[in-house]
Amino acid sequence: MATQDTSYETDALIAEDIDAYLDTHQHKTMLRFITCGSVDDGKSTLIGRLLYDSKMIFEDQLDALSADSKTVGTKGQEIDFALLVDGLAAEREQGITIDVAYRFFNTEKRKFIVADCPGHEQYTRNMVTGASTADLAVILVDARKGVLVQTRRHSYLCHQLGIRNIVLAVNKMDLVDYDRQVFDDIVADYTAFAREIGIQHFTALPISGFKGDNITTAPSENTPWYDGPSLVDHLESVEVLSEVAAEKPFRMPVQWVNRPDLDFRGFSGLIANGKIAPGDPVRALPSGKTSTVKSIVTYDGELDEAIAGQSVTITLADEIDCSRGDVLCVADDPPETADQFEATLVWMADEDLSVGRAYWLKLGTQTVSATVQQPKYRVDVNTMDHLAAKSLGLNDIGVAEVYSDKPLVFEPYEKSRSLGGFILIDKITNATVAAGMLNFSLRRSQNVH
Ligand code: GDP
Repeated sequence: MATQDTSYETDALIAEDIDAYLDTHQHKTMLRFITCGSVDDGKSTLIGRLLYDSKMIFEDQLDALSADSKTVGTKGQEIDFALLVDGLAAEREQGITIDVAYRFFNTEKRKFIVADCPGHEQYTRNMVTGASTADLAVILVDARKGVLVQTRRHSYLCHQLGIRNIVLAVNKMDLVDYDRQVFDDIVADYTAFAREIGIQHFTALPISGFKGDNITTAPSENTPWYDGPSLVDHLESVEVLSEVAAEKPFRMPVQWVNRPDLDFRGFSGLIANGKIAPGDPVRALPSGKTSTVKSIVTYDGELDEAIAGQSVTITLADEIDCSRGDVLCVADDPPETADQFEATLVWMADEDLSVGRAYWLKLGTQTVSATVQQPKYRVDVNTMDHLAAKSLGLNDIGVAEVYSDKPLVFEPYEKSRSLGGFILIDKITNATVAAGMLNFSLRRSQNVH
């Protein structure tokens, strides 16, 4: 719902403030999440509510909002939160590149980044983008409608993309008189489906994004029968991926080799997993050569230790063969190197998958030429059946073998998103045609480790 008023300064909440925002709340952990649901399930309203309750809306925006709410918003309410987010969305649509809007807010305990993905089916691509970096997904269901095909589709995708914290938010409880039976029936329905697709655990909450029930405190007086946490309590307490990533074995895809002069040769990149310190033995893949870390350098100087999520330059004690696209890892527990894989693909292009044709496959900092074989099956998201498929079309999810022309350093997506997630790019149009997850290798490369 667009308004003519352009006083919603998107940059006040988005672009320039990001640095300041991250700086101010540096000591807090950050949780990334996405909201999923069909159109009108209440995603914008819920995000608007969260921004409002965490005071991320500025006074002038509030004034504009309450004025707009009176004229175009849902009748009888002081503030229509959807207007805030939809107002931003309308502006966003003027741009051409950003499909997923990221919004920031924080509470006393944590900072949050929420990816707001449009709900139409053709926007699967946006959802995949948002979900691939998310710790948690809020799956919204309209209490009057229950679990729909979209609910299943989004849940399945979130699960495939490795999100292990699923929140089933049964929204618009105010429109069903906060009836416990309605909530229980939807939860029972979802439980059966979740089991089918392997979701082992999820948290269900009865909420009203509009009225604010069970958003910041729980139970709301309208749902005395509910004994779980409020949405914010839950968001503040679940484990975040960066904490988990730091505990894994060290891996850093090399973004570039930093060689300002003959005396200095450093390998720069973002640490995907684990920790590293000077003196640690490391291995470069695919060469398999080993060395030890001499120093870890950042713009702020040298570090005694660096962990997952940090961008660093690492120098080594020996001159070893290592270039852009290679992976530095802990010496005694390296990832695999292979050139044939089984992968799960989410097809995102209008044009169908062309079996046997060469696409660019981009996995982190590695780019290789790769072909996709005829799919083993595609998944019917209504029934979760595996269907025979000759190809994959827009929004199809399928499993196929992928062959690359050069060895790829990888880990199964389940183990590591950064070393298991990839995209396929059309070599002629340069468009991204699919997102994929490597399940396992079919043929390991012959190399040293
Ligand atoms: P989106 O398309 O998922 O972003 O949905 P919106 O947030 O735009 O909401 C769609 C409509 O549902 C709007 O008219 C909202 O005011 C209304 N709505 C959203 N959440 C609630 C709720 O909890 N209770 C009620 N009564 N209406 C809601």
